[in-house]
Amino acid sequence: MRLAVIGSGYVGLVTGVCLADFGHSVVCVDKDPAKIAALNAGRMPIYEPGLSDLVAENVAQGRLAFVTELGPVVAQAEAVFIAVGTPSRRGDGFADMTYVREAAQEIGRSLKGFTVIVTKSTVPVGEGDVVERIVREIAPGADFAVVSNPEFLREGAAISDFKRPDRIVIGVDDPRAEAVMREIYRPLYLNAAPILVMGRRTAELTKYAANAFLATKITFINEIAELCESVGADVQAVARGIGLDGRIGSKFLHAGPGYGGSCFPKDTLALVKTAQDHEVPLRIVETVVAVNDSRKRAMARKVIRACGGSVRGKTVAMLGLTFKPDTDDMREAPSLAIATGLQDAGAKVRAYDPEGLEQARPLMPGVDFAADAYACAEGADAVVIVTEWNAFRALDLARLRAIMATPVLIDLRNIYEPETARRHGFCYTSVGRPGDGPALSA
Ligand code: NAD
Repeated sequence: MRLAVIGSGYVGLVTGVCLADFGHSVVCVDKDPAKIAALNAGRMPIYEPGLSDLVAENVAQGRLAFVTELGPVVAQAEAVFIAVGTPSRRGDGFADMTYVREAAQEIGRSLKGFTVIVTKSTVPVGEGDVVERIVREIAPGADFAVVSNPEFLREGAAISDFKRPDRIVIGVDDPRAEAVMREIYRPLYLNAAPILVMGRRTAELTKYAANAFLATKITFINEIAELCESVGADVQAVARGIGLDGRIGSKFLHAGPGYGGSCFPKDTLALVKTAQDHEVPLRIVETVVAVNDSRKRAMARKVIRACGGSVRGKTVAMLGLTFKPDTDDMREAPSLAIATGLQDAGAKVRAYDPEGLEQARPLMPGVDFAADAYACAEGADAVVIVTEWNAFRALDLARLRAIMATPVLIDLRNIYEPETARRHGFCYTSVGRPGDGPALSA
């Protein structure tokens, strides 16, 4: 099938290359000429494991191309995926639909023959109706249907998530469009990926409900971790103890510095706003948003406590800046709030990340950047592990201790065993484990 994908970011690029890999003929469009030039020169504008090879392979096979001009591509496509950004609108937290609506207008101007317009971007419930109205106004005689097909991939595992999804959600009210969508995803029948066909509004809400639920799970275990610290319990054991219960499940039960990234923060907030507008406040999600916001800054205070109550004039080394490993995405990363909190308290912050330095630099004024973990820790008064990159899981602790000014290690991802770290002479603090909280009275 001939497909177009509008927006070649984390989702659009992965969608485009994976659909091409299924055998479809795909053109990815982006309005950013630098991004398209890079892609055409074989350079990836984002870091995602396996992406570069898959793009090269599909370009070489003639199934995948990158362009900036949308019109001719839309005119030839049987389905057009909208995969542009839907960030938080500045000031009020609603999802900003500017890019989606601009894309809808541009599509409307170029439609030829029956075309399925697929919103892959995460959009508030009812946005499919808006896209339909925009296109209809611009092209009153056009033959098209608007479908919601939200994306559930995780950055860092995006290609395998796209190719082996837990489910494919298709919100569609038009049988012809449903047939097109089933044909697009037919190669996944082999993997027995369930295709859930539902109403468009239901599909739009399903995406937000999924993200809000996962954000709630993370926030829940983070609060339990706080309680563990106060009562001398171990959150890792609690998480395992509840996670093995099939009704609960063990994923998203890792205590840490709070969720970040390009999706959970903006999507939870947008859901809260949509619900308030409909006078059905989602109080649980509202609380999750508030608890998570305060947690990121609280992690800076945790570091300060671990440093003996003050970081003024001290050098704090941060290992890992991206919101999670295996991505270069810095959007809403906890590292940003932690670095600012430490700088506000008078610390000099030095940082290292395996893939995120380029994106981090403009977002972290006043921070010094190091070329590797050890250069970052050299002479530091404390090392904070913020993101659990594999490269930080097996640091040479003896070497680390030897090069630091004072051996204070704060592990916000619990990737070390407290005993191991203490045996190497570190004053070690983690999240929600015995010894991490205030000293207990009997
Ligand atoms: P992104 O910012 O990485 O990419 C968006 C791209 O769209 C940019 O390259 C931008 O230049 C381009 N663009 C904007 N308007 C355009 C237009 N009119 N024509 C052509 N290109 C245009 O965003 P992303 O992280 O890929 O997210 C896209 C959507 O997918 C969002 O709604 C997001 O919530 C959702 N989503 C993201 C993830 C994720 O892990 N990043 C996962 C699931 C869903």
